[in-house]
Amino acid sequence: MGRSFFILLLTLVALLTPHSVALGADGLVINSGIHHLRNAEPREWSHFPEIAEAAELRIEFELESPEKFSLMTWQQKGTKQTWSAFLNEKELGKLLRDHNHLEFGLRIPDGTLREGKNVLVIKTTSETPDDIFVGNVQLHRSPATLTSEENAESLLKGRGFRRDLPEMTTSLNLTALEAESEEPLPCRFTIIDADSGAMVFIGAESSDEIAVREGVVYTLNGQASFRLAGSKANPRRYEIYCGRGFEYGLETRTIEISGETDPVALDFTLRREVATPGLIACDPHLHTFEHDRHGDCTLTERLISVAGEGVELAISTGHDKHIDYAAEGDRIGASDWFTSVLGCEVTTNLGHFNTFPILPGAKPAEHKLRPWERIFENIFATPGVEICILNHGRDVHRGFTPLHPDNFDLSTGTFLRGETLRANGMEVINSGAQQTDPMELVGDWFALLKSGHSIAAIGSSDSHTVNFAIPGQARTYLRVNDEDVSKIDVDAAVDSLLAGRAMVSFGLLTTLEYDSDTRETSLSVLGPSWTTAETITLFRNGEEVRTIRLAEEVGKTAGTKYQTRLTLKDWDARPGDFLCAIASGPGIAEGWWPMMPPYQPDKPDYVPFVMGISEALWIP
Ligand SMILES: [Zn+2]
Ligand SMILES: [Zn+2]
Repeated sequence: MGRSFFILLLTLVALLTPHSVALGADGLVINSGIHHLRNAEPREWSHFPEIAEAAELRIEFELESPEKFSLMTWQQKGTKQTWSAFLNEKELGKLLRDHNHLEFGLRIPDGTLREGKNVLVIKTTSETPDDIFVGNVQLHRSPATLTSEENAESLLKGRGFRRDLPEMTTSLNLTALEAESEEPLPCRFTIIDADSGAMVFIGAESSDEIAVREGVVYTLNGQASFRLAGSKANPRRYEIYCGRGFEYGLETRTIEISGETDPVALDFTLRREVATPGLIACDPHLHTFEHDRHGDCTLTERLISVAGEGVELAISTGHDKHIDYAAEGDRIGASDWFTSVLGCEVTTNLGHFNTFPILPGAKPAEHKLRPWERIFENIFATPGVEICILNHGRDVHRGFTPLHPDNFDLSTGTFLRGETLRANGMEVINSGAQQTDPMELVGDWFALLKSGHSIAAIGSSDSHTVNFAIPGQARTYLRVNDEDVSKIDVDAAVDSLLAGRAMVSFGLLTTLEYDSDTRETSLSVLGPSWTTAETITLFRNGEEVRTIRLAEEVGKTAGTKYQTRLTLKDWDARPGDFLCAIASGPGIAEGWWPMMPPYQPDKPDYVPFVMGISEALWIP
């Protein structure tokens, strides 16, 4: 059956006069529903309905005074491929490629709207199945002016897209202070439509203090001022969340805006919930659109968002480029909140490798070499480099998957064709490119450890964006003095990683230590109040020993959720073995810390999860 049979036809034929405008004098709803589209079978995700409404959206509507409108907005969700909006057969632009439920808008060029009948079509030419929701389409008078034309142009260059949104009615001034010191802290404000759950238009533009996306404002100085929509004719309720990544609590308020008022001031308290003395939070995989031409993030926005998520050691890993964060960090004051390290994602045809630290002025490693022997030789010849991390080893890039059974024998932990992996770290959770089965890469890591590789498990975000993939969502904790996070001892961080003293955190943190006097291990699972640990699985030499199930109130505790001491007998372990504990629980889909579905899924089922993976603890 042809695609046209599925085309959804929604026709609004009433001639709309200024009196029937649904949004007051400034706007017009042309379609209030939300529609499920699927461009090609089969279904992308099993959490979408089995049958989609249509392959593309087509809305016909009539206008009396087309010259009044110059902006079209809608809500969209789950947009992975490139979908475009056409108005009267003219392409307005592309929908944001973003899995989140959010509001988005595009300018309408003069002369595109017509008096009488108009046709809007939203469709994609991609043949890769993509389930999306789109709807609540509105016309507005003029786009809001958020910043100078000059700044708007430089933002467009630095992140590849323009934020076009309507004029708003009410100003908000938000402040976040640390509970104990009462000092302002960098943080993340998330603003969600209380009724639909959409991340809403934020009437402010990114600057040297804030990084703004729909529904999100990261702030460097604990303050954010922006405008929100809401009128008498169309009152809106918003949920506002204030958080600072994994180690902090989450505070929420609900407000209603039903017209122009004086500015609304809201004060939030940031409470540190997860104490991590002697540990630093490292995100060893960070990008920007500005330099990598992929994603949506300027360098300035990257630094503000990294500070707002509480990342303490930020490794800059441009694709085959050396992008030093330090100068821009000093310029905007972000360098007070973390230490940046120059690194590189050496993006070869035989895998992607994050390498650091790199001495300033060094030439990027050659990325066109093969085989691995030459690649690793070249990587370790880069001045300064000590760490080499195998990134997303189960994903296909340029037709190659480093840990695919064609290349890697899981049973022996060896690479076929006699190659040696000289990486000393491997991503087991990349929160920006997750696996369908989160244990698959853990199994690969265990196999490499068993076969004698000295390799640390790594958590990273691979974020190229402000919100699409949240920086520091998956992260690596290293055992380093954390008294002054602006001056972290990078050599000590490198040593911790080389010694395998690295913990993968993705909403949970699991620590494991051995006391050689008592010959006991102490196991702790930590996390904020907004994540839940359900189970802890113990592994000896990569084999599952047993699972501890936590009561709900235990798993939800803020801070140390669970702590126990275990004898070697509890682990069925003896000297020479390695132990690992993995805590897990349900993930977060809500807009205040949304987790991404798998990047290259094996199946359509996606169950979001949180996880904390301990280091591999070798028993002496
Ligand atoms: Zn990569
Ligand atoms: Zn990357």
